[in-house]
Amino acid sequence: MELKNLKNEWISQFDNPLIIAGPCSAESEAQMLQTAQRIKNSTDQVPVFRAGIWKPRTKPNGFEGVGVIGLNWLKKVKEEFGFKTATEVANAGHVRAALEADVDILWIGARSTVNPFTVQEIAEALKGTKKPILVKNPVNPDLALWIGAMERLLGQGIENLGAIHRGFSTYQKTKYRNVPNWQIALDFKNQYPNIPLIVDPSHICGNRTGLSSIAQEALNVGYAGAMIETHCSPDEAWSDAAQQITPEVLAELISGLELRQSGITGYEDELGAHRTLISDIDFQLIELLSQRMKLSEKIGSVKKENNLAVFQPDRWKVITDYAAQKAQETGMSQDFIEKLFKAIHEESVEVQNSMMLPKA
Ligand code: PEP
Ligand code: MN
Repeated sequence: MELKNLKNEWISQFDNPLIIAGPCSAESEAQMLQTAQRIKNSTDQVPVFRAGIWKPRTKPNGFEGVGVIGLNWLKKVKEEFGFKTATEVANAGHVRAALEADVDILWIGARSTVNPFTVQEIAEALKGTKKPILVKNPVNPDLALWIGAMERLLGQGIENLGAIHRGFSTYQKTKYRNVPNWQIALDFKNQYPNIPLIVDPSHICGNRTGLSSIAQEALNVGYAGAMIETHCSPDEAWSDAAQQITPEVLAELISGLELRQSGITGYEDELGAHRTLISDIDFQLIELLSQRMKLSEKIGSVKKENNLAVFQPDRWKVITDYAAQKAQETGMSQDFIEKLFKAIHEESVEVQNSMMLPKA
């Protein structure tokens, strides 16, 4: 059996999109039950309750999860409110405990997906399970690792798989906690259209304001669902407080989502057409950049002949002022245009600088 041929019919037991919600971490029985109760009261569109029992934390000596006792709380959430339950497993011991506690869906976290030894250990402990196993993208932007993790699970006869897109870590500060890098997730989706892809806007955004637009964007490109961190008292959460929302806000977010069903509205055709046009424009952008760079090389030769400095602050000001004005005229973000032109200009300077070096 190959990944491409898996049916992954587990997803069809749920309405589309599948929403998984619950706290980043299980903290106490009261927090779990209250969160579950309020989700239940606010929306009927959340069939699966999530909570981290074992928490991978960047630094030691912080809260690292409540451990196995949290599994009892998940059980209560299932019994009292009828949710299916989901948690992260990061080693064979976690898998044994979670299977024993009959957690319905398990996921492999982003820090585990990067490590083939860990994934192999988890896969072997899960051998032959029929429970859906979801694999988060690795923290680094590496599609092969993500797919490799799925293949390790399949290698142990695990055929109910799903993928979670939680964004990718970068050293540079951006508006995201983890940049989405849609291209990687869409490449994944194009290669394995049969593996349900679930977006995790909470870990992509790292805050509460961007969640719904990331979730909507994912649904627009055919994702099967979303996992959204939800806490009865987000500001007091023991982990990921800034990105968690209340059950009531979650319900609003869900009701604002527009579901685009494939084949019904014909949106795929429309999207396909737009994408082709975008690819075409991208191609033209690259062509134009290459022409610009050739002109810049000509300028570099003139500077070299006349012993002029490569970086001319006056010229840089003309370029950025022009770009800012055009950004305004066309209704684009000035910040974006400034960043773009800074990158283009830096490359030009680099090319011209390399021309100034004596030939080896
Ligand atoms: C989580 O879902 O709480 C979590 C730890 O996520 P990730 O593995 O994506 O960092
Ligand atoms: Mn979290």
